[in-house]
Amino acid sequence: MAMDLNAKAAYIRGLMTGMEFDPNSKNGKIIAAMMDLLEAMAATVTEHDQALDQAFDELDAIDEDMDDLTDALFGIDDEDEEDESDDDDAEYEVTCPNCGAVTAVDEDTLLNQELVCPNCGAAFDIELAPEEEENGNIPISDE
Ligand SMILES: [Zn+2]
Repeated sequence: MAMDLNAKAAYIRGLMTGMEFDPNSKNGKIIAAMMDLLEAMAATVTEHDQALDQAFDELDAIDEDMDDLTDALFGIDDEDEEDESDDDDAEYEVTCPNCGAVTAVDEDTLLNQELVCPNCGAAFDIELAPEEEENGNIPISDE
């Protein structure tokens, strides 16, 4: 795109050269000065645009190097960190009603399966928050 600026300025310069343009007339002085300015601006913008492209390329390269460095230094990515914290949250301690042994289970086991005590082999269910159920369904007595 910026390449076009230099080409367009050169096209206008060519028009001026081809016609009988008098750079010493009143209007000619202004137009000649504007032409000089146009060419200088086109050249400067093109230069800056190329420098900017180069800077972005170098930034991308540095960004990739940073990723490699981070992996090499810490050896983990974000997904691994999340998985580890999930495992920590999923552990619950359950006390066996038969022998009193404490067992660690994850949330799925606690909610969906009948628990078997690894100490005495007794199978038992865990009642979750029984007080809430009673408060939600108060029995009406007909005395
Ligand atoms: Zn037990």
